[in-house]
Amino acid sequence: LDENWQAAFEIVQSLEKFGYEAVIVGGAVRDYLRGQLANDVDIATSALPEEVKTVFSRTADVGIAHGTVLVIHPLSPVEVTTYRTEGEYADHRRPNDVQFVRSLEEDLKRRDFTINAMAMRGSKEIVDLFGGQSDLSSQIIRAVGNASSRFSEDALRMLRAIRFSAQLGFAIEEETFKAIRNQAIDISFIAKERIKIEFDKVWTSSNAQKAIRYLNDTRLVDHLPGDFSKNVEYWSTFESFGNPVNGWAFFILLQQDENAVQLLNTFNCSNKEKNYVKQVLQAYEIRTTTGWTSSDYFEFDFPILEIANDFAIKFYHTNDNLKRSEIVQKKNALAIQSRSEIVVNGRDLIEWSGKKSGPWLKMVIDKMVDEILLNKLVNDRQKIKDWFLNEYTS
Ligand code: ATP
Ligand code: MG
Repeated sequence: LDENWQAAFEIVQSLEKFGYEAVIVGGAVRDYLRGQLANDVDIATSALPEEVKTVFSRTADVGIAHGTVLVIHPLSPVEVTTYRTEGEYADHRRPNDVQFVRSLEEDLKRRDFTINAMAMRGSKEIVDLFGGQSDLSSQIIRAVGNASSRFSEDALRMLRAIRFSAQLGFAIEEETFKAIRNQAIDISFIAKERIKIEFDKVWTSSNAQKAIRYLNDTRLVDHLPGDFSKNVEYWSTFESFGNPVNGWAFFILLQQDENAVQLLNTFNCSNKEKNYVKQVLQAYEIRTTTGWTSSDYFEFDFPILEIANDFAIKFYHTNDNLKRSEIVQKKNALAIQSRSEIVVNGRDLIEWSGKKSGPWLKMVIDKMVDEILLNKLVNDRQKIKDWFLNEYTS
């Protein structure tokens, strides 16, 4: 057994020894029944947070207001959350206040989908009150209880249904699907950063195009920023993007609008993500117009070139078939891999020229890099000095 599962079972047993009920819940149980050991194993318990803290010697308060205590087991830390129901829902968002309860059934009832609403006891007995195992074997995403009221409580669940369908390759059950279609507009109540987290998971799933299809069929697309229905046929050219930011880059590319990159602000993407996407789009633009020169192979990191090349083949249908291995080769064959490898620096140039630093310096250095990359200039102090004195001083 995995270390975090081992830790979780021992924590469950400790709580049971103190007379509390404790179970493994949620995604970990779902994945276990699918034959996969999740990295995240969550525990739910009848013990109140203060009670959990008296059972274990090392704990941390990570979400005490929501009833979560992190138990620091030597094998792995595990989150332990008191059985709870959620308070009043306002504005179709998950409420901030929760009520602790002593009943497992109450806790399972508040969960979103039947496959996510199962529990496993220390004895490995499965508690399945809503037909989760049956839906798991039929590969169905079905809301717990009345789909329409569950989506009214928290509209993010609509997008979660679609995200799980992409991750698991499951279909959304009819009533659940209809409820999403009827209430799609409520997604506009949800903070964009919560929406982004779901999309990040779609981009790394093995069925991103399934999510895009559901977004269109349910008309959730009408209430999300950007246009997820644009160039929709191209989503099927990608099984998975490997890295979420590649999914964002593809989404922006499909918009075919030079201002589309602004959408990343709307989705609360980080500056690092925005920069990455901009570079991919730039590399794509060059790749599909003039083609890449040695200076492009030098300036762009390998992952950027690789994904931009994929986009060119799949979206632009470039017919020169540049292979991944050729990109690696071209990059490795460059005379230098980074500017720091150049044996001459700005201070040398200032000294040799006797001029003060200024905008000329950057211009000369850029030219020097180009010449080295074109193999017109050797990265050697004397050779560079000769070249510089010859070209720039008279
Ligand atoms: P993942 O593998 O992506 O972590 P997960 O099932 O663990 O999948 P989480 O978002 O980590 O998903 O949530 C853990 C559990 O909490 C879910 O399995 C579900 O039972 C419950 N849950 C999470 N978010 C909601 C929500 N918005 N409404 C109802 N239940 C939820
Ligand atoms: Mg989880």
